[in-house]
Amino acid sequence: MKRIAVFTSGGDSPGMNACIRAVVRTCVYYNLENFGIIRGYQGMIEGNFIPMKSSSVSNIIQYGGTILKSARSKEFFSPEGRKKAYRNLQHHEIDGLVAIGGDGTFRGASIFSKETGIPVIGIPGTIDNDLYGTDFTIGYDTAINTAVEAIDKIRNTADSHDRIFFVEVMGRDAGFIAMECGIGSGAEVIMVPETITTMQEVFDILKQGWNRQKTSSIIIVAEGDEEGNASMVASKVKEKFPHIDARVLVLGHIQRGGSPSAYDRVLASRLGLGAVEGLINGMTHKMVGIVNGKLTFTEFDECVSRKKEINQELLRITEILRV
Ligand code: ATP
Repeated sequence: MKRIAVFTSGGDSPGMNACIRAVVRTCVYYNLENFGIIRGYQGMIEGNFIPMKSSSVSNIIQYGGTILKSARSKEFFSPEGRKKAYRNLQHHEIDGLVAIGGDGTFRGASIFSKETGIPVIGIPGTIDNDLYGTDFTIGYDTAINTAVEAIDKIRNTADSHDRIFFVEVMGRDAGFIAMECGIGSGAEVIMVPETITTMQEVFDILKQGWNRQKTSSIIIVAEGDEEGNASMVASKVKEKFPHIDARVLVLGHIQRGGSPSAYDRVLASRLGLGAVEGLINGMTHKMVGIVNGKLTFTEFDECVSRKKEINQELLRITEILRV
């Protein structure tokens, strides 16, 4: 292994820069050459490669986003697109890849490394925390802290005006963000795709609150909940209780931005270093993660085919603490 290329792909997440820094600096430490690929797989297809050295990643650990940019590439889904990408890797004499992204990125990496034989190690970089094979993904901790900070502010105004706020957080298929920011902000109801929360349960919880003189409430809705998004849930509640003052807030992309938390910076540094050492040790086709505090490597196919379950203890906490 002489030359490694690193790229970020899919949705960006805070801490990706800290991870790029760790990959580049670990390469420098082991006397490996390093290239950054701009705009993920699309940049690989277009030949958008830049040489990276230690100073290329100075002063970036604290910034959100990704200096290498991220993209979604339709062309990479086709064998022709992947052939172009491979030709560019050969042209730059790359003999190992570090892919920072989510499950889609690893699906692409899995196919690509099987087709071409190029060793690839993946690093989980996504705010959703929905990847099997790691307890935490880079950006998740920052995203839930961003959401909690916003919900705290909403609670102040909800309380002043006796309002019910329906706050939508990211999570099309997974409720990790909703669950943890809901518990962290003391939300009355948390609606996630993994569990069924019926509208009747929501009505009952609100009524229980009113019975103990509670005049404002926060309902967190993951965007992929089976009852629909926050506006849909709000209109169902409004239909049942027309007297309530209901407001909807979609947190949206602010959850992806901002300075990464200390936790995410440390996680990104551990995983970046682990990925390069994994390649040096002959590993391929695996995602590096942290499970029970220890660095682990899990086959791409397992990461993308197995579903990470939501912690049942968290569900129990929510039910008990809203009494
Ligand atoms: P996030 O979880 O934040 O959305 P992601 O990595 O899952 O991140 P995707 O858009 O799903 O984001 O995937 C990133 C890119 O990976 C895609 O744009 C595509 O180029 C490539 N990719 C995904 N799935 C495949 C596949 N089955 N075959 C080839 N390439 C793929």
